[in-house]
Amino acid sequence: MEAQIGAKQSDFVVLVNISTEKWPPRHRTYFGSLEVRSPEPGEPYAITAIRGCNGVIDMGDKRTMDIRITAREIADDIAREINSDSGEGSFHGVFVAAGEAPTEAELADARRRLEEFQRRLVAAADLEWERTKNPMFITDLERRAARQLGLEKPWLYDPKPLAECPVCAEKIKHGVAVCRSCGAILDREKAAQYGLLPAGRRERQRNQEPQSTAGIEAGK
Ligand SMILES: [Zn+2]
Repeated sequence: MEAQIGAKQSDFVVLVNISTEKWPPRHRTYFGSLEVRSPEPGEPYAITAIRGCNGVIDMGDKRTMDIRITAREIADDIAREINSDSGEGSFHGVFVAAGEAPTEAELADARRRLEEFQRRLVAAADLEWERTKNPMFITDLERRAARQLGLEKPWLYDPKPLAECPVCAEKIKHGVAVCRSCGAILDREKAAQYGLLPAGRRERQRNQEPQSTAGIEAGK
C-alpha cells in the first residue's frame, strides 16, 4: 500500500522496512494516518513511498501559517519514532533510502543494526534469567529477538499459567490430583491410582459430580 500524501510529485522518498513486525498506523495532523508496510514472507524488505505535504500552523487569533514539510522530514520522523520505540539505542529495521530503492549496502547496514539490537536484547534476557530463573521477567521483545535469531533459550517459553483450586481458590499447578492447600481431591482417578483416596469414602463418592465432591472434601 503506497501512502499518497501531499502533492508535489518530485518530493518523494522511500521508507524501507526489513522487519516482519507490524506496527500500528502512524498519525500526524498534516497527513492523517500512514501505515508503514512490513515485508511479506519471503520478501527481504517492504517499501512505503512518502511524499511531502503542506501543513498549516495555527498561530492563534485566527491567523495561520502554511508550511512545507518535505518527504525526507516526514520519513525521518516516522523512522525515528518506530526505531526508538524500545528505549536507548533500539532499532526495529526501518530506514529512509537515499535513492528511490534501497541499495545492497543500505540493506546490509540495516540488517547488521537490527541483529546487533536483537543480540543485545538476548544478552539482557540471559542475564536476567541467570539472576532470577523467572520467565516472568523476560519481555516479549526479548523472546521475539531470540526467535528471530533462531536461538534456543530456556527462557523462551511462557510458563504454564497456574490454575485455581475450585474450593480454596489457591493457585495450583495444572493436573494435580489433590490440592496442596486445602486437601480437596481434584482428580479422583489420579488420586485413587496413587492411593491418595481415603478408602472408606470411595463408595460414597462414586456417583457424585466433581464439583460436589470438591465441596465435600472442603467441608470435611
Ligand atoms: Zn484447595
